[in-house]
Amino acid sequence: MPNQSHASATDEQHHQPSAQPNHRLPQVEQLLQQAFLAPHIADLSRPLVTQAVRETLSELRQSEAFRQHGVDPARLEALIGKRCQRLVRQRQTRLINATGTLVHTNLGRSPLNAELWDEVRELNTGYNNLELDLATGKRGGRKGLIAPLLASLTQAEDSLVVNNNAASLFLLLQEIAKGREVIVSRGEQIQIGGGFRIPDILALSGATLVEVGTTNITTAKDYLDAITDQTALVLMVHRSNFAIRGFTESPDIGEVARALPDHIVLAVDQGSGLTTEGFAPDETSVRQYLKAGADLVCYSGDKLLGGPQCGIIGGRADLIKRLEKHPMMRTFRPSRIVYSLLERLLIHKLNKSPTGEGIAQRTLSDPAAMQEKAERLMAALPGCFAQVPAQLVVGGGTLPDEFYPAPALVCLDPRPAQQLLDALRELPVPVIATVRQQQVLLNMASLLEEDMSVLVSQLNMLSKPAECSENTTEIPRTSHPLSIPREAP
Ligand SMILES: *Cc1c(COP(=O)(O)O)cnc(C)c1O
Repeated sequence: MPNQSHASATDEQHHQPSAQPNHRLPQVEQLLQQAFLAPHIADLSRPLVTQAVRETLSELRQSEAFRQHGVDPARLEALIGKRCQRLVRQRQTRLINATGTLVHTNLGRSPLNAELWDEVRELNTGYNNLELDLATGKRGGRKGLIAPLLASLTQAEDSLVVNNNAASLFLLLQEIAKGREVIVSRGEQIQIGGGFRIPDILALSGATLVEVGTTNITTAKDYLDAITDQTALVLMVHRSNFAIRGFTESPDIGEVARALPDHIVLAVDQGSGLTTEGFAPDETSVRQYLKAGADLVCYSGDKLLGGPQCGIIGGRADLIKRLEKHPMMRTFRPSRIVYSLLERLLIHKLNKSPTGEGIAQRTLSDPAAMQEKAERLMAALPGCFAQVPAQLVVGGGTLPDEFYPAPALVCLDPRPAQQLLDALRELPVPVIATVRQQQVLLNMASLLEEDMSVLVSQLNMLSKPAECSENTTEIPRTSHPLSIPREAP
């Protein structure tokens, strides 16, 4: 190696190759040349690895153990390797969702259909007509066919797309209600996920909140009685991550719409983006809200719709035009990656092609596939699991009250549940499981087909101590924790 430092050349002459503990630490540059760091550099970039090396060396120098005994090269390698490994775990990493929550906000929400992704590849790796009207050669809008496609899917006269549904809400409050009053039910002043509260966003948008009704009951009359000459907007918000049961009443939106003066806008934050999916008959779809008289309905693109992260506002064309002209619109507009994925998704959805189905639709339309996955795993790893009935939830702030049956596998592993849960999460392709009654559960509902083979090989790996990986095929039962035979009943 041309760049090998002088020091290391002389080291080699003076020391045995079976490196001795050393009080002289190698130079950073010299370490960076070594083969064991090459994969870390590829994973993390040279500057991040350099920093990890520096930090390891500096910690070592300050340690008492090093002052007394020095460090041997193998130990030094291990320390640097460990630090790099910790960084690698912070990268965005594919993982296996065994939680049974299909649209999991912490796990990336809707997994995109792979065919959809492939279809937009060239559109994104080359130039495209994002803002060029090909008919005239002049500057065009960004929406492509998205608005007419959504008109067909939801009956929205016009639609626009922003970065997420929180942005939809903020934009519509800003444009329509800034400096004026917004009427919201007390039962709908909710917090959606981390730090996103309807009253806060309302205050930030410069609108004044007028609360009506009570937590469990709000009627059409409550809304109508609260109208003043300052009222700009009635906002109804879907209760997306909780349900209120028992003695409750929500107003008939049609009744509010009919009685509302023309100049007051009726907007609904529908949230989930339910359109034509058949599995949630009790849930109100975007189309139903518009049909009932909502002027605007906003929803997320990456929940039930199954598309990329975005927010969509659909409804009256004159209002959508106003929103699009808002000076802040530019800060909310998504990239062409989002537009292209959404456009293709909607085409597939309208053609009823499986590529247009969100993960919830795909999973719930084929329950047998979940059972089949359970059986395949049990056959591949005999004695490792027991099947138990469990449930899936759609999640991500949708259908808070709906649970669907789904099979799960209990891991028959003697380790304490938390320890096994951690071990699963620390696998090369992390597996995210849940614990129920001190047992680790792999829920089949959220496993993807492409997860199956990697899951099997990893579970095999997990059950074998690292030392056995060279040539041992026979592993003593006690150190094979995932293959404890099922208890005889
Ligand atoms: C999910 C949700 C939001 C937030 O949407 P994001 O796309 O996460 O910004 C807002 N309102 C409701 C009712 C929701 O369900």
